[in-house]
Amino acid sequence: MKKDQSKIIREQAPRSATREHSVPLYLTSSFIFDSAEQGRAIFADEEEGMVYSRYANPNTTEFINKVCILEEAEAGLAFASGMAAIFASFAGFVRSGDHIVSAKAIFGSTHQLFTQLLPRWGVTTTYVDAVDNQAWEKAIQPNTKILFLESPSNPGLELADLSFLGELKKKYPQIIFIIDNCFATPYLQKPLRYGFDLSIHSATKYMDGQGRVLGGVAVGKQQLINELMFFIRHTGPAMSAFNAWTISKSLDTLGLRMDKHCSNALALAEALEQHTEITKVNYPFLPSHPQYELARKQMKAGGGIVTFEVKGGKERAYSFLDALEMILYTSNLGDARSIATHPGSTTHSKLSEEERLSLGITPGTIRLSVGIEDQEDIIGDILQALEASK
Ligand SMILES: *Cc1c(COP(=O)(O)O)cnc(C)c1O
Repeated sequence: MKKDQSKIIREQAPRSATREHSVPLYLTSSFIFDSAEQGRAIFADEEEGMVYSRYANPNTTEFINKVCILEEAEAGLAFASGMAAIFASFAGFVRSGDHIVSAKAIFGSTHQLFTQLLPRWGVTTTYVDAVDNQAWEKAIQPNTKILFLESPSNPGLELADLSFLGELKKKYPQIIFIIDNCFATPYLQKPLRYGFDLSIHSATKYMDGQGRVLGGVAVGKQQLINELMFFIRHTGPAMSAFNAWTISKSLDTLGLRMDKHCSNALALAEALEQHTEITKVNYPFLPSHPQYELARKQMKAGGGIVTFEVKGGKERAYSFLDALEMILYTSNLGDARSIATHPGSTTHSKLSEEERLSLGITPGTIRLSVGIEDQEDIIGDILQALEASK
């Protein structure tokens, strides 16, 4: 049996009659039937075969197969963006009157889904503190349909205890347990092993890894993916063949890149922890992280995101960001290039001051998506910007 890295590198859409080595880009909206009888049989699900790229395409199928290998999943679906994957994974299952239990520290647009959009269709959400194991069960109601979380969270890098939640799933088998596994990637963390039903990703982040295209993916149990397939067939949030072709190639180097993201991030976190201009550093693989033991248990390494607080609040944070020379300021993450953001004034600016504080976001908080440049250059740029912004 080949191991993951060999398997994903060898996973490829069936070779065409042209005998190409590298997979071609299948820019075609539909697929022809060899006969009227074949058309009938494929539509009747008696014969397997591609029909239309809103349903499936050789490039998206290849991409999904690779993610299934990494996540140890039975099946999956690809989406135009991470948000399309997340929205479909709720909308595809809930009905009016249903309830969702979610971690409160979640991606900004997911928060808008729970608070602004899903209530329009009669779906309510209760937020819990993901770190507090007991809080989950207390929030479950008879009409709870979905339990949702991110781990590590954005930008506080708090963890939910996956094996605890796996036990909770056994007690509530009717609830669909969904994790946004984007920050960890399936290279570092495999939630389906613990009993989660679906693992979702914004493939825009580490999966592409180079900040080029948007994508999303949901993988998990075959029966749930079949239900979701019905939803996406008829609502149309499918991933484009081009984006699938691009991200699928990127997955071949996901492990290599994550090793480098993680070693750079750990070195940076260690360097910043000593620094007198920094009041707090958050990184799951720092022994000072309150959930260090849990991180070691459920993650292979600490991930590529480091958050820290500079002395001097918002003004200092702004002048620090403006003083960076190599590192760019943009709201993406998971790129080969290191990226800095100020969550308080961008990704989390829609929240109240109080909500931000409860997520650990202060005016001096900086989120760094540590890239795969040379370690000395990343740390060097941060140290010079701290000095220059004094
Ligand atoms: C970026 C992100 C999303 C949204 O993904 P898009 O591809 O931008 O739609 C969802 N969850 C997390 C954790 C993210 O970082």
